[in-house]
Amino acid sequence: MKSILVLGGAGYIGSHTVYALIEAGKKVVVIDNLETGFKQAVHPDATFYEGDIRNRSFLDEVFEREEIEGVIHFAANSQVGESMTNPLKYYNNNLCGTEVLLESMVAHGINKIVFSSTAATYGEPESIPILESDPTHPTNCYGETKLSMEKMMHWTSVAHDLRYVALRYFNACGAHPNGKIGEAHNPETHLIPLILQVPNEKRGHISIFGGDYDTKDGTCVRDYIHVNDLAQAHILAMEYLVNGGESNTFNLGNGVGFTVKEVIETARKVTGHPIPAKVEPRRAGDPSTLIASSDKAKEVLKWKPQMDSLETIIETAWKWHKNHPDGYDNRTM
Ligand code: UDP
Repeated sequence: MKSILVLGGAGYIGSHTVYALIEAGKKVVVIDNLETGFKQAVHPDATFYEGDIRNRSFLDEVFEREEIEGVIHFAANSQVGESMTNPLKYYNNNLCGTEVLLESMVAHGINKIVFSSTAATYGEPESIPILESDPTHPTNCYGETKLSMEKMMHWTSVAHDLRYVALRYFNACGAHPNGKIGEAHNPETHLIPLILQVPNEKRGHISIFGGDYDTKDGTCVRDYIHVNDLAQAHILAMEYLVNGGESNTFNLGNGVGFTVKEVIETARKVTGHPIPAKVEPRRAGDPSTLIASSDKAKEVLKWKPQMDSLETIIETAWKWHKNHPDGYDNRTM
């Protein structure tokens, strides 16, 4: 059996995808530079190479040593705020990294790639739910580099024997129900892990960024999708390419929006903690409402999100954070 090569397989969504691939009986090779990923997040049955995708000779060596069926590419920086203060870091890692990767793939005749894109490619949406055919006007550098990655894949696929699937995630959240892997960012900027720091006694309250949006309770609405459901979509997208599917782009979300206040309220129910919250000014660049239409992924990839209740999502996240209050630090699996 040939292997699936997962780039960034020590990161949040990458590690969950590696677990899902191995649970589905696949052979997996992981590359990660461990800049934001964690060695402990890599499934013990995966073959692990520590290295950077901007290093062409390193990539060439892996492609020569391993028999690779296709690539799933998560190796990128993904913090919106940092991308605005340090845009060149994002151009370097996300775009130069992908360019080197595609050169090496073309040179080795590896012609299938599934990769992480984002709802941030759309910017402020013109209509809800968002369709893949809607205009893309990113409002931050992170979204801009992901959109450029999509375009790089497109033009490479026109010139060479290579097909790709771009998966535009909405709000990834939750953790593997086995409790071994979960979300760990440093610094943490995402809503659900920040909320759960309150019952974990790492912070006294959660800040609500803006209470004056044009939504049902004045707080932002997002489409929260469980990381295991995202992982399944990557497996289906790779199968789609293996079966001859043409290059394509898919949204991945639940199609249901929750306000920040609703997320906090659900976390109170799940944890049994009062979780004090304070309304603060809006965070720059936050669109009011982002909800996906994932009909295309459901129809073409036969994707069916399984963990689609907010309560289940937060329960799995809480199981992880309660037992790993410092993420992977000072812990072994
Ligand atoms: N948010 C918040 N307080 C926080 C962190 C996030 O109110 O401490 C809000 C944020 O404004 C957005 C939603 O929660 O409306 C989700 O933010 P997150 O950073 O998790 O994901 P994003 O939607 O930016 O990708």
